[in-house]
Parts: sequence; C-alpha cells; structure tokens
Amino acid sequence: MAQLVLLPGKDRSLARRHPWIFAAAVDRLSGRARPGDTVEVVAANGRPLARAAWSPESKIRARVWTFDAEETVDDAFFKRRIQAAVDRRRLTPELGEQEGLRLIHGESDGLPGLIADRYGDTVVLQLTATGPEKWRQAIIGALRLATGCQRIYERSDSHVRRLEGLDPVTGWAFGAAPENTLSIVENGVRMQIDVVAGHKTGFYLDQRDNRLLTRSLAAGRATLNCFCYTGGFSLQALAGGASSVLSIDSSGPALATAVQNLALNPQLAVSRAEWREADVFTELRALKSDGRRFDLIILDPPKFAPSAAHAERAARAYRDINAFAFRLLNPGGLLMSYSCSGGIRSEHFQQIVADAAVDAGRDARILRRLAAPPDHPVALHFSEGEYLKGLLCQAD
Ligand code: SAH
Repeated sequence: MAQLVLLPGKDRSLARRHPWIFAAAVDRLSGRARPGDTVEVVAANGRPLARAAWSPESKIRARVWTFDAEETVDDAFFKRRIQAAVDRRRLTPELGEQEGLRLIHGESDGLPGLIADRYGDTVVLQLTATGPEKWRQAIIGALRLATGCQRIYERSDSHVRRLEGLDPVTGWAFGAAPENTLSIVENGVRMQIDVVAGHKTGFYLDQRDNRLLTRSLAAGRATLNCFCYTGGFSLQALAGGASSVLSIDSSGPALATAVQNLALNPQLAVSRAEWREADVFTELRALKSDGRRFDLIILDPPKFAPSAAHAERAARAYRDINAFAFRLLNPGGLLMSYSCSGGIRSEHFQQIVADAAVDAGRDARILRRLAAPPDHPVALHFSEGEYLKGLLCQAD
C-alpha cells in the first residue's frame, strides 16, 4: 500500500476525525497509487493515522475510510459500514416507517463520496468520489444485502464528479426499471419519484420534516410556495388546510409532475392549488405589484453557493428573494426560508434574512430553526455535513 505522508503539523484535523485531506496538507505520496486506491496516511514523523482513498485530481487529495490504521478496506468493510448505516435508520423510530429515506449520507455515515436513497423497494446510488467509484461492485452487493431491495439505479451524474476527474455514470446497476411509475407516500401524501431524470436522486428527501411542519402551520392560510419542484411543500400545505396554495417553479417538467402528484391524492382540494411556471425573482415582483398578499411563504431555492467562493453573489440572491417575500406577507404572516448552500453557514444565513427584513421595512422574529431530518445526520466532526438550514420567521 502506498503511503501518503503529511507535512509537519498537518495531522491536526485528522486527529479531530475530519475525513478530508487537502492538497496543502500533503508532503508526498510514497509508492504508487491509482485514483481510488487505498493509501496509508502517515504523519510527518511516520506515525500511521488512517487509511484513505487517493484522489490525485481533486483539491481534497484523500478521503478517510477509517481512522484505525490497521483496518482493511475490502468488501467486508463496505458490508459492515453499509449495514450499520441502514440499521441506525431502522432503529430511529421516526424513520423506520418512511418509504422515502436516505440510507447513506456520505461522510456523516463514515462513507465519503457515497449517497444512497431508498424509494420503497428501489435504491438510488450516487458515487461522487474516486474511492467509492473503485468499490462500486462491493457497494452494490452490500446495499442489496442490507436492504433486500428489488432494484438499484445509479445516478452518479453530480457535477462534483468532474472535480475528481470522473465521468458521469447512470443506469440500472441491479434489477430493471419498475413497470409502474415509482411513487412513495410521505406523511400521508403520495409523490411520484423519477429516479432517472428527477433532481438529485429523484426527490428532496432532506425537506421531509419541514414539509410536515408546513402542514401543521397551513390551516386557513393563503400560501405561496416558491421553488416548488414536484409540489412537496404545496401538497402538505393543502393537506394542512391552506385556504389557497400558489406554487412557482421555472421547470415545466417539475410542475407537470406536481400536477400529477396532486391528482394522485384525491383527498386534497385541487381547486385551492394554482401552479405557475416562472422565474421566482421576476414573479415575486409581479405578485407585489398585483397586490397579492400571503399568510405563509416558503422559499426553498436551489444551491446558490455550492462553495464559500460563491457566497457573496449567493448572499445577494438570498437577500433579494427574502426581502420580496417579507413584502408579500400579511401582518403576522410566516416565512419559511431555506438555504442548502454549503458555502453559507447558518449565522450568515440568519444575517441575510435579517437584512432582507430591514430592506422590506418589516420586523420579524425566529420561531424555529430548521434543518434536515435524522436520515441526513451531521457527524460531529464534520460540520460541512450541515448544508441545509432554514428559519421559520413571523413578521409583525
Ligand atoms: N422545495 C422542493 C425542492 C426545491 S429544489 C421540494 O420540497 O421538493 C429547487 C427548485 O427550484 C427546482 O425545482 C428548480 O427547478 C427551481 N428553480 C431554480 N431556479 C429557479 C428560478 N430562478 N425560479 C423558479 N424556480 C427555480
């Protein structure tokens, strides 16, 4: 096994169990390793620290598989780690019954670069780094064993693969496409899932709890759902008795699915739902000049800042939409505002929303801080895992 030798003093983050080794921490690779190979990580004085996956093209030069420098990384390793991640969710009461569930959340489940989501008996796999790319077959075998699923679809088409020098890979890795359209029931609402062409692995599982919260807040409220995708928040708002729900997204296919999703749920009032294909930035202004007002507004935009380098421009965009949302709120109205940008930390996000309220001339207070549900855990030593943050604010 090749040795990855760190520069003096650069073993500190590893000692705190942070799993990333940046190029700037590396002295040299001693021996030969191909992308994805397991290397032994050693301190400048030669002390073994960890075993990691080598990724020569990425700024993150290696990702730690194990901090036990003696542990072998082989098929059995993936069986153990994957089974453990699946078991943890089974033993979490609020997750055990969910048809749509994240089974493996990368670094926070001790499996850097590996995502697996379950939609009923279908598992969707996403590999984003050279390490899991090398162990694809072991991972697929371990997922079959741990879940007993009928089929596995691979959606390794995230843009971050390019940073690793990897091309996109998609297709059925085990089993075949289901005969009927895939769907799950999420907290009483049926939602179609397009694992082939949908966003991420097909659905935004990370907003499950927040959609449920929306349902508990919606009774009698005129609701606006911006960036609605396939209507998750909209349908929960209808289930909660919203007086009306206006939903906006720029994606025609996402809206078409949203309309179908509503039809799949005959218990929900179709007449209270309105869908608009539009750019949210433009549409919020138009709603203001039309004199529309709302009692509950959801803002769940895409990742404006994938990394800290984009934070400034992203902050401007977040501030704009939040200011417009505050202007559209009736007195006492609620704003649920999210950022899923890894490059914007939660204190920064709060500052942006506070500035937006000032722009709109509104006073508001935070009723709740919102995050992803427990199938998207954040390892204590890996704060990067806390990408989704939200605020539930009430305006005066
Ligand atoms: N809230 C959704 C997920 C939102 S994902 C859920 O719970 O499932 C972000 C969505 O924003 C995507 O559907 C994307 O099509 C849409 N989008 C991105 N930029 C947009 C823009 N400028 N205007 C309107 N929609 C946009």
